[in-house]
Amino acid sequence: MNIRGLQKTTLLDYPGHVASTIFTAGCNFRCPFCHNGELVLDPSSLEPISEEEVLAHLNKRKNVLDGVCISGGEPTLDPDLTSFLAKVRETGLSIKLDTNGYRPEVLRKVIDEDLVDYVAMDIKAGRDNYADACGLPNIDMANIEEAVEILASSGIVHEFRTTCVKGLHTLADFEDIAAWLPGDSLYFLQDYKEGPTVINPVYESFSVEELEKFVEVLKPAIPATAIRGL
Ligand code: SF4
Repeated sequence: MNIRGLQKTTLLDYPGHVASTIFTAGCNFRCPFCHNGELVLDPSSLEPISEEEVLAHLNKRKNVLDGVCISGGEPTLDPDLTSFLAKVRETGLSIKLDTNGYRPEVLRKVIDEDLVDYVAMDIKAGRDNYADACGLPNIDMANIEEAVEILASSGIVHEFRTTCVKGLHTLADFEDIAAWLPGDSLYFLQDYKEGPTVINPVYESFSVEELEKFVEVLKPAIPATAIRGL
């Protein structure tokens, strides 16, 4: 695995778990609001971390940890993902995968092979706005829609989530997401946060009142909608 970051302990990345988060290099999206600019655009500028080092850390701390979050970048791009997840499985820790859902065949494989316990998939925007939100002008929405269907029918615990970005999203995005995602989904809105590593730092955060308006539109269709981090 091309690992370029390791957060040794986090209470935030894996709901209900004390976890370590592993950051993989590279991404097939170019979300302008991405706050992992170095990992996406220039991962070779970050120190590589070997699988052995990560696994040694997990084994050493498994009396404190109960989960591992595999994040990025986009982990499903890494050809060694499944073999690495199999090694992480041996630690006995619960595994969460963060993904943008653009490689549904990999998502299906890791679920079918019982290599993940929880999946968090980004929903970048309403379908008409997806290309702008993910920075991919020729995006094939069929991949995203397939990933949503895989998760919805998988039986695996999962969430969908959207980073809400003023200047990129409007109420129309959330009206479309309400009509699109399965009604029994767990769906989180997360507010955009400015920072030095954002790819295109021209955006702003929404106010709490604005986020609550989106929730009002979403809740009738997706009752388990919530704002994360308030
Ligand atoms: S936000 Fe996620 S999907 Fe988008 S460019 Fe960054 S790492 Fe990739």
